[in-house]
Amino acid sequence: MRLKEKFAGIFPVLAEKFPDPKSELKFSNHFQLLVAVMLSAQATDVSVNKATESLFKIVTGPQELIELGETELFGFIKSIGLARTKTSNIMKTSEILLEKFNGEVPSSYEELITLPGVGSKTAKVVLNVGFNQPTVAVDTHIFRVAQRLKLSRGKTPDQVSDDLTKNVPREYLLKAHHYLLLHGRYTCRAQNPRCELCELKAFCSFKKKQI
Ligand code: SF4
Repeated sequence: MRLKEKFAGIFPVLAEKFPDPKSELKFSNHFQLLVAVMLSAQATDVSVNKATESLFKIVTGPQELIELGETELFGFIKSIGLARTKTSNIMKTSEILLEKFNGEVPSSYEELITLPGVGSKTAKVVLNVGFNQPTVAVDTHIFRVAQRLKLSRGKTPDQVSDDLTKNVPREYLLKAHHYLLLHGRYTCRAQNPRCELCELKAFCSFKKKQI
């Protein structure tokens, strides 16, 4: 099957499977989204939501976070992996948002990746989820699904992201990140992918090794 046909076939199936895909992170504004995505590196959305439930009741912007202070912030997020580094990055990022961006989260990739602790994936998630920009952030689930379905031969998340951004049909690009992530999380799992139930098995040769 040609690559173009594969992309054209896969995305309508995923759109039907996940009619209203959303981030599973909980937040109520761009700042909280940025903090939640920074916390989600090497952590599950469930663990981030558990930690931010109380934090986001009292912190809605960078000024409130600075006033809360580093020690208190660490207390809220200490159950999450890399908590010390994340605490430091979130504090520094809050200072920069106040100094350079008028307290707002910037809406460009180039500006976002200047913030401490904000890499390519975090920036793309924030742009996609918070600003409705058609970016494809590639996490471990999306990387795996793209490789198994042979949607990309990229060796790094950024290479896979570039291939997906180039080839996903335009009308599905905004939600492509969610479709692939949810498919990877619940069906094309790292261990024991559910190939026998998979809606995409007609497009996938990986399954033959598994069943
Ligand atoms: S058939 Fe299996 S390996 Fe292929 S996409 Fe579906 S779950 Fe993943």
